[in-house]
Amino acid sequence: MLIIGGLVSKTVLFVIPHEDDGEGGGGGSAATWSSQGDRVVFLLCTNGDKGTSDCSMTPKKLAKIRNREQIEAASILGVNEVVFLDYGDGELEDTMELRGKITRQIRIYRPDIVLAIDPFRRKVHQHRDHRVSGMATLDSVFTYAWTSQHFPDQIKDEGLSPHHVREILLWNSENANIILDISDTIGLKIQALSKHVSQIHDMDRMSTNVQERARRIVENYDYEFGEAFRRIVIEKEAHKLGIY
Ligand SMILES: [Zn+2]
Repeated sequence: MLIIGGLVSKTVLFVIPHEDDGEGGGGGSAATWSSQGDRVVFLLCTNGDKGTSDCSMTPKKLAKIRNREQIEAASILGVNEVVFLDYGDGELEDTMELRGKITRQIRIYRPDIVLAIDPFRRKVHQHRDHRVSGMATLDSVFTYAWTSQHFPDQIKDEGLSPHHVREILLWNSENANIILDISDTIGLKIQALSKHVSQIHDMDRMSTNVQERARRIVENYDYEFGEAFRRIVIEKEAHKLGIY
């Protein structure tokens, strides 16, 4: 993998608004990393409890189902840990509380790379939880997690220490600047997505759509399938500002 040349193994943290967003955005890359021996962590912001058009379903029941589906999907990708913040679907707010919770996980797992959904989209309206989770993640990485003055109780009472994330990859971006090769893992991505039975009504169509999108992304590359991200190298950005 191209990212962070020289690192034998790395930790990658996905901050995910709803169950199934992580697989759709970066499931192929997650499977590639875990197959290389990297540590992959999924952090789920909401419990997805409103994601249905079935009037007989209750939010409580759906949250349980989606929790189980997420764990099954993550295990197919070889994800090492799945953490649930358990906010209600559609109830994510960009607050100090949310930024503190994301910062805590960054300080616990100490990722080299953080993945999130790109909150800056102009062409297509996106779910509120997507915008909020993306923005809160960017802010948590840069600068809450590395500043000891932010959330000092995590350091004093929980024994955590500040952490610098080296880079961020944003999926669903209108300004993608890096393509990762998922030719070997697209099958696992589709298999993982197929575990989200409550969200997918036509598995064949899902599989075709995922493959078509992944093929379109790599039109000018030698790969068969890819995932596209906006890559932000934090060290460089911070250096420009004189923080490093
Ligand atoms: Zn979503």
